[in-house]
Order: sequence, then C-alpha cells, then structure tokens
Amino acid sequence: MKKKYNKETIASKAGVGSDSMHGAIVPPLYLSTNFIQDEIGKEQPYEYTRQANPSRDHLISALAELEGGIGGEILSSGMAAVSLITNILELNSKVLLPHDCYGGTFRLFSSLADKGILEAHFVDQSTKSFKENVISEISPDLIWIESPSNPLLQVVDIEKICKKAKEINAMVAVDNTFLSPSLQNPLKLGSDIVMHSTTKYINGHSDVIGGAVIAKNRQVLEKIKFWSNNLGIAGAPFDSYLTLRGLRTLSIRMKKHEQNAIALVEFLSNNSKIKSVFYPGLTTHPSHNLAKRQQNGFGGMLSFELKEGLNGVKNFINRMELLPFAGSLGGFESLVGHPYTQSHGTHTPEQKEEIGISEGLIRISAGLEDTEDLIEAVKKALN
Ligand code: PLP
Repeated sequence: MKKKYNKETIASKAGVGSDSMHGAIVPPLYLSTNFIQDEIGKEQPYEYTRQANPSRDHLISALAELEGGIGGEILSSGMAAVSLITNILELNSKVLLPHDCYGGTFRLFSSLADKGILEAHFVDQSTKSFKENVISEISPDLIWIESPSNPLLQVVDIEKICKKAKEINAMVAVDNTFLSPSLQNPLKLGSDIVMHSTTKYINGHSDVIGGAVIAKNRQVLEKIKFWSNNLGIAGAPFDSYLTLRGLRTLSIRMKKHEQNAIALVEFLSNNSKIKSVFYPGLTTHPSHNLAKRQQNGFGGMLSFELKEGLNGVKNFINRMELLPFAGSLGGFESLVGHPYTQSHGTHTPEQKEEIGISEGLIRISAGLEDTEDLIEAVKKALN
C-alpha cells in the first residue's frame, strides 16, 4: 500500500524520483507537444500535450493528494477551471451559487444563463433557510460554494450543505482559492469537486495564471478530462513547472500570510477610522466557530470598511507607500484592493449593495513582508 504523508511532505516529494533517465531531483520540464508512439493502436500515457503532459501530471497528482481527490486537471486559468465545470453539466442544469461569489464566476454563470444554457440562482448561502428550504425548493443539479467568500470572508457550513445536496442528488463544487489545500479540504467535507485559481496561493509568486479542478470520484474525473481535452484549456507545461515550485512552500507561506493578516486585523479593529473589519479569525465574526472547525487556519485575506467611504479609500491608496494597489491575491506581496471597482466591478450598484460590498470597502491580501513594516505602512496610509 502507498504510504500516506502529511501535507508538507506531499508538496516536498511531488515528482521527486520520477526521472529514471538521469535521476534529476527536480522533475524535468516536458515542453514537447507530442510523444513518439510505440505502435498503432497502443494507448500510452502521453501522446499529445493538450490531452496529457508529465509536467502537468506532477502538479495535479500533488494537488489531488493534498485535497484528498483521485485526480483532476490543470487549466490555463482559474476561470478556465470554472468554465470546465460548467461544461460537465447537462444542458439546462440548475446551479445554485452564493450571491457574493467571485465577480468572474458571477459573470460566467450569468452569461451562460442569459444564453439559455443553464439556470443560475444567486442566493445568500449563509442563512439557515438556505439549508432548510432554498436547496430543496430550487432543487439544483449543482451547488457552487465559495468559502470564505470574496471579499467579505463569509463562511458557510460545507459539510451540512453537502449532506443536503446528497439528499436531492445534486453535485457540489467548491472554489477553495482563498484557503488553498493547506487550510481547507472540501472533498473531505463531502463535496464532489474542488477547484482553485492556482494563480493565487498555490503558485504564490504572482507570475503564473493557472487553475485546477480535482474530483472525488471516477465518473466526474472522466468528464473533467474529456472536457478539458475537448475545449483545449489545459495549462502550459512551463506554467505547471513553476506552479509546482510554488506549491513546495505553500504550507510555510500560508502560516506567514495568516500571521500578518491577524496582526493587521488586530491593528485595524482598534482604529477609529474603521467602521468594520471582516476576518473569520475574529471572535466577533458571525461564523468564527464554524471557520475554526472547518478550516485549518483563517488565511491571509481580510477586508475592512472605512467610515469615510470612497474618499477615505482614495486617500488610503494615495498615501500608501508599501502595498501596491492591484487586483489578485495570494502572492508574496501584500496588496490593497478595492472590490467595488475591481473583483466585483461587473456587478450593478444594486447587486453590490445587496451583498454588502460598499465603496468604502478595502481588501488586503497579506503577503510575506515583515509584520511591523506592514502595520507601519497601513498606519501611515490611514493617518
Ligand atoms: N476564484 C476566485 C475566488 C478568485 O479570486 C479568482 C480570481 O481572482 C478566480 C476564481 C479566477 O482565477 P483566475 O484569475 O486565475 O482566472
């Protein structure tokens, strides 16, 4: 039987020892688009890189092992991963999504619904009535979960939602980008699929756009592989090579991201210019206990609302010296974001109001800088 290792070891050993030709420690990068076939009609693991490639396989095997899945696919972006999941659905499938999901996910499902390809229902998944009534009333084919959500860090009970989904034969897919496999494993909580924008924490160095979809059972895995090849959206081998390099330090990076996030949250919670702070690690967070139970940590993302609204945000960004104002998250560098105009820029003002994304909301992706330097930079920008 294959020996089971802990997460840090899985990331360290991924692909090591796979080079039978020269014994290279780092698994070689296979840029080749095609592979020589032994004979007519004989199937082999690698024939054409759109279908399968060893460099991609090293990464997906490690991610599947970390998540507790049986396999999956590496895609060219997080949105390619979302798109792949939409493609394994039958025509006219009903999908139940969180109303505060990532803006790109919202845009994709809404556009497919507008074209009549599927039905998309965006609802608040954190309410009691969601689990008790809404799921059975809508009777979806797929429930999409994003927990913690972007940018308000709402946490939903994945295990309970999955249990309810099983009762009505619905599939569950979880976007685990915000926590990475290091801090949360949705397949172990009952979901059928877990996906990542590997662009974020998994690669962690802000230099590769990528995505991953991991399945718990063979039937879903076959569909994922079939549709990835069909659509031609698999990730490039070099991107997989770099992302695997990032994955090796994921656990240790997540600890530092979280340490910096907690320090920032403590500082912001005691500042008179701040209206509210959103972070599941706060004991005042409505789902603090659930997050503690469901996650292996609270993560490196936080958001806060300034009393001064948009003007306050503009001043904060203009006075900020250390943290760049930029989209994305999960890299080595701390970033300041404005969800109202960035990640949720395509939502209407009414939709943003319903979700609770105000013009005064700032999101911070806590990076790997020295904690005191970070606090000092935020303090200066606020004053
Ligand atoms: N899911 C979440 C939660 C995200 O934050 C993002 C991007 O910001 C995506 C998916 C899409 O990923 P990508 O930008 O790699 O396409």
